[in-house]
Amino acid sequence: MERILIIGAGGVGTVVAHKVAQVPAVFDDIMLASRTRAKCEAIAAAVGGTKIKTAQVDADDVQQLVALFKSFRPAIVINVALPYQDLTIMDACLEAGVNYLDTANYEPPEVARFEYSWQWAYHDRFKRAGLTAILGCGFDPGVTGVFTAYAAKHHFDEIHYLDIVDCNAGDHGKPFATNFNPEINIREVTQKGKYWEQGKWVETEPHEIHRPLTYPEIGPRESYLIYHEELESLVKHFPSLRRARFWMTFGQEYLTHLRVIQNIGMASITPILYEGREIIPLQFLKAVLPDPGELGEHYSGKTSIGCRIKGVKNRREKTYYVYNNCTHQDAYRETGAQGVSYTTGVPAMIGAMLFMIGQWQKSGVFNVEEFDPDPFMEQLNLHGLPWHELHDVDLEV
Ligand code: NDP
Repeated sequence: MERILIIGAGGVGTVVAHKVAQVPAVFDDIMLASRTRAKCEAIAAAVGGTKIKTAQVDADDVQQLVALFKSFRPAIVINVALPYQDLTIMDACLEAGVNYLDTANYEPPEVARFEYSWQWAYHDRFKRAGLTAILGCGFDPGVTGVFTAYAAKHHFDEIHYLDIVDCNAGDHGKPFATNFNPEINIREVTQKGKYWEQGKWVETEPHEIHRPLTYPEIGPRESYLIYHEELESLVKHFPSLRRARFWMTFGQEYLTHLRVIQNIGMASITPILYEGREIIPLQFLKAVLPDPGELGEHYSGKTSIGCRIKGVKNRREKTYYVYNNCTHQDAYRETGAQGVSYTTGVPAMIGAMLFMIGQWQKSGVFNVEEFDPDPFMEQLNLHGLPWHELHDVDLEV
């Protein structure tokens, strides 16, 4: 019996549950656990039959996790709760002897700092225990790291310039909503921009650098340079990179709302006193914003995420663009979730599957680009995220 445990019953957890249930030859015993069991049960019912067991767990509590792991005995846990739970889940994995996969790096709740140091510090302990931890196995981070590794393996002798481009050209019909957990999303997009150039990090004001970039089947969209966590691991694992940047599209309406939210203090993560009890403004805001998991039904349009790479092959300069486009409505029809949850959940399932079949197994803590990209690229085409490549094109960056 190969058991898999999914933690987190949000938008991404919904997709992971649907996708693992589609591969019974690999995942024959599935459990979905989250803080609210009713959400797990609703997802299990939507998947259908008795394929998915459910459980309640507080993933901030290591002992609760250990008890669950010891009773269900999963081979691997897919952590799609929030980045705040990464370390407690990794601690419990070490204690109970379970392998680990996530889609977002650890963040301490009290400070929005995006770095792998906390999780990389677990490497020796996972290695000694003979356990695998796969970090950042969503789309970005995740597929973007696999795309980079694939490009470096097959199309370049050296990669020099990497621009990750993330466009959501979808329309959910709401004046303002975030595509994944609002708290995590707003922390990410309101921080200062940062990119890697000539061996050091260059910091910018939030959204200071922007330009229109043309996305396949979508057209030009204003794209903003922001910091994104995979840049840290990619510049470490591909030291030939002279520059690495991340671009994300935002609509004017979204940016105006974001500015207002920040100006009135609602993006703050510093606790305030409200009617005699402490609250965090951003967490309160999350409670009144649309639930990203509910956006799917009326979401039209598509996402386009890829890597634009320049480097050398056979002493000749070469450009390469590899990307996936995902249609929100297709994602919704298949899983009941919108495209951003889908593009995150499918790679998480694929990473766990490659672990299960022995292709992505090594003792220690690793980012996705440290594994062989080929089987992952193959599985993307089979499980709903087909990719396309363009050679020697104008990268616009
Ligand atoms: P949601 O907020 O929709 O879901 C998070 C889930 O985690 C909720 O069901 C919540 O439970 C559960 N949860 C939160 N805290 C705990 C806890 N202490 N114990 C148990 N369960 C808990 O988020 P998303 O599904 O949108 O995102 C999930 C993850 O995916 C996030 O880490 C996000 O950063 C990451 N992500 C990664 C992307 C990538 O491409 N790499 C892109 C998008 C997201 P409850 O509902 O009961 O509160």
